[in-house]
Amino acid sequence: MEKSGLSREQRQKERFARKASQTASKYLRRLEELPGVPESAAPFFQILKDIYVDGKEVALSNNRKTIGTYCVMVPQELILAAGAMPVKLCSGSYTAFFIGDDLTPRDACPLVKAVAGYQEIGIMPLYNNCSLMTVPITCDCKKKLAGYLSKKYNVYSLQIPVAREDEDLEQYVRDLYQYTAVLEEITGNRISYDSLSLAIAQTGVFQFELSRFLQIKKQTPYIIRGTHALSIVNAAAYMMPGQWAVHMNRLNTELEKRAEEGNYITKRQLPRILITGSPLIFPNIKIPLLIEEMGGFLAADETCMGERGQSDPVVTVDQSFHGLMRSLAIRATKPCSCPTFSKNEQRLFRLKQMIKDYQIEGVIYHVLRGCLVYDFEYLAIEEMLGEIGIPVIRLETDYNEEDVEQLRVRIEAFIELIKLKKPPEKRRERT
Ligand code: SF4
Ligand code: SF4
Repeated sequence: MEKSGLSREQRQKERFARKASQTASKYLRRLEELPGVPESAAPFFQILKDIYVDGKEVALSNNRKTIGTYCVMVPQELILAAGAMPVKLCSGSYTAFFIGDDLTPRDACPLVKAVAGYQEIGIMPLYNNCSLMTVPITCDCKKKLAGYLSKKYNVYSLQIPVAREDEDLEQYVRDLYQYTAVLEEITGNRISYDSLSLAIAQTGVFQFELSRFLQIKKQTPYIIRGTHALSIVNAAAYMMPGQWAVHMNRLNTELEKRAEEGNYITKRQLPRILITGSPLIFPNIKIPLLIEEMGGFLAADETCMGERGQSDPVVTVDQSFHGLMRSLAIRATKPCSCPTFSKNEQRLFRLKQMIKDYQIEGVIYHVLRGCLVYDFEYLAIEEMLGEIGIPVIRLETDYNEEDVEQLRVRIEAFIELIKLKKPPEKRRERT
């Protein structure tokens, strides 16, 4: 014990908590300083502040338990039907990454290193209070993470199919039944046809507001910046879907009013950029911020904590409990363009569609160091983009700020390249 009365370990935890909070606070400030923040974005930014700056627990009602998940392919409706709250635990913390770096292999991805760092230091109520952590067995990093986390937490490894054939789907449905039994045991609540139907309907309201938001986001002149949009969708990880939908409804109404009144972010034709690749999780938003700070416009993201997969509703044809379970399995896997599936041509189709819908002029391909599954798909995507004449740049990065200047230079050059490719009349509009 030191003179301060705190042990070395306690002082280290305090230092860690302070540093993590300062970093999150800095990124939140940059987010709020980016021009054009809608007033109704405040509750979303507040939840990011509560969790990452102030280290608070998620707001729980009715003594709900929280069940952590590490992937959008874990159906949150099952957790809601069991009377619990789903929270997404994939981490973007630079400070936690720094701790986790010493505990994991050099080539593990930063997302997993950051989660390991949080486990080690144990200062986040979000992690500590989870009654169960659901880890999908997708890539090697997640598989090993499940074993690592189980040293301290109650962990369930959910098998996610590697393909989307019928037999894979049937196996996934069987796995979801096993997961259902575990959720029932942990929460003490039975998942019935009625509770599951209600959870699907509640999630449907969330999805409706999200798809309304995505429609608004496609409008030109621009109504909302992509970095703000990405962070707003990130905040859904720490709210009940119904609560998020209420705030989103208010935001959508404000944005529709902005559009009616011609209150745009800017009338200038900024280069419209799409970001795709490894997950982007607050506070790791250095690339989206740089895109917009350097004069680009982040028009869309094809990432799993952003637009991907969350807006697809569950469609039920067979109105039985088994029918609901199959519908959940179909929604979780069929539209998901995650590269952990062995064959993933649909990501190419999805990207082409997004490029058309959002009038994209350039693509930034984000690779977290060690994230092989995303890196593997880069060549196919580069080739496809070459065929349709869309410039692309691959940015490999880690959870630290050492490469920010290098990223800035590359992003600035990429934005200039897009401007040069514009027809002369469009270029004049910008000046
Ligand atoms: S990248 Fe794929 S496996 Fe990882 S969390 Fe996202 S959807 Fe799940
Ligand atoms: S998909 Fe990539 S970022 Fe996600 S856990 Fe696996 S290696 Fe890490």
